Amino acid sequence: MEQYDVVIVGSGPAGMGAAFEITQKRPDAKILMIDKQRFSTGGMRNDCKMNFTFPIGFPLEYWDQEQAVYYLDKVSEYLNPDIMEKSNVNIYADRAKRLGVRLVEVKQAHLGTDGGLKLIRRLQEDLARRDVELSLHEEMLTIDAEHRTIDTSIRTVGYRTLLIAPGRQGFRFLQEMMDTLKVQYVDNIVDVGVRVETRIERYPIVRDYYDPKFMFPEKVRTFCTNSGDAHVVQEKSITSYGETYYSVNGHAYSAEKGRENGMVNFAILKTVGLTEPLASGQLFAEHLSLQAMLLGGGRPLMQRVGDFRLGKRSKAGDFNHDLYDFPPTLRTCCPGDISLAIPARILRTIWKSMKHLDTIVPGVLHPSTIMYYPEIKLYANKPCYADSHFRVADSVFFAGDGAGTSRGITGAWASGIRAAEGMAAFL
Ligand SMILES: Cc1cc2nc3c(=O)[nH]c(=O)nc-3n(C[C@H](O)[C@H](O)[C@H](O)COP(=O)(O)OP(=O)(O)OC[C@H]3O[C@@H](n4cnc5c(N)ncnc54)[C@H](O)[C@@H]3O)c2cc1C
Repeated sequence: MEQYDVVIVGSGPAGMGAAFEITQKRPDAKILMIDKQRFSTGGMRNDCKMNFTFPIGFPLEYWDQEQAVYYLDKVSEYLNPDIMEKSNVNIYADRAKRLGVRLVEVKQAHLGTDGGLKLIRRLQEDLARRDVELSLHEEMLTIDAEHRTIDTSIRTVGYRTLLIAPGRQGFRFLQEMMDTLKVQYVDNIVDVGVRVETRIERYPIVRDYYDPKFMFPEKVRTFCTNSGDAHVVQEKSITSYGETYYSVNGHAYSAEKGRENGMVNFAILKTVGLTEPLASGQLFAEHLSLQAMLLGGGRPLMQRVGDFRLGKRSKAGDFNHDLYDFPPTLRTCCPGDISLAIPARILRTIWKSMKHLDTIVPGVLHPSTIMYYPEIKLYANKPCYADSHFRVADSVFFAGDGAGTSRGITGAWASGIRAAEGMAAFL
């Protein structure tokens, strides 16, 4: 059996943050990082816009401003962000304030999907120089916490301390780990919303502020704005019962590529907190997604704002001419009626927020604008952590989006650093 001081599961930003921190704190530690994919660094491969302002990406139950600022400084040392200039923010912020909406000003850098790949290569080379062993296409399967070993798809590995950072896609795996390690958890929160796509001239704020973060009343917010060469994409997921569903997301390529498709997309999400009788946020999300699949013939739905306002479904013919003057970038979606699929309470709040947004940035609700559904963000079943370094058992730690300690690249990296500080005590 191979023995390591530190084993890190997941090579996304949370795993990376931990790996770099440990190499600094314990340069002699023998470190193994595994990832089940054939390529490394998880969600940094998508769009790679990085937010450097609290509270974006930092769940408030685990972070306060002082902590976030401290760790963001450390994150910056590794990611070396080129912060983007903003302009005219006050104009939009003042309009928003009059409606009870907050425009949060966030320090941002944007590399694009292609720029993210370059960053990943640089980080990997740096880790190799620090003697961190990266093993790709190796999946962690089970843990034996008593003997401090894990079984992977290819071997048994011993550890002195272990970080499990499998990201949002590792939701179910983390659940299995929590069951094995007997970690208590809460699962009652889910974000539900739509992805909006329109021409850039109808949402020109993005020329002043790349990813504007609007916070509306009733826990609705804009999220993950992409522009330039921007595309809506779909992601495959499997429910706890083995059924397949697709949700939507978005990304853009870097400005460096010199290509522009003239489109912008962003999510508008409502956070839903479930109370007594407590339903599982995950199961609720799965049911909502399956409802959308049922109506969309197994595909996400898309509807023009013009049709939505008239209370009629969109049809294939509505997607190519005249007033509806741009084709969807995600053409595989099913034209339909999102209001048949989204619970009324959620849809009402989202639509109200979109009307507010249209007052702040007039034009975004042009009839041709498309709303895609479902865009649903699952949080992990939030583990009850044993300490402030996200330890869940003996020398085992969780971190990152899957574990609920972050919601984005920089927060995930910061969580990894915080976990690594706790892990160092076991070396
Ligand atoms: C399309 C898209 C666009 C996005 N755009 C942005 C953006 O612009 N800005 C931003 O801040 N965030 C963005 N995000 C979110 C961002 O990717 C995540 O917040 C971030 O990657 C979370 O980091 P993580 O380390 O927790 O998990 P991940 O980055 O998901 O990494 C987890 C890794 O663990 C591996 N893994 C899982 N299970 C196992 C196992 N059992 N054994 C071994 N390996 C395993 C996975 O293969 C994966 O590589 C986007 C996400 C998507 C999907």
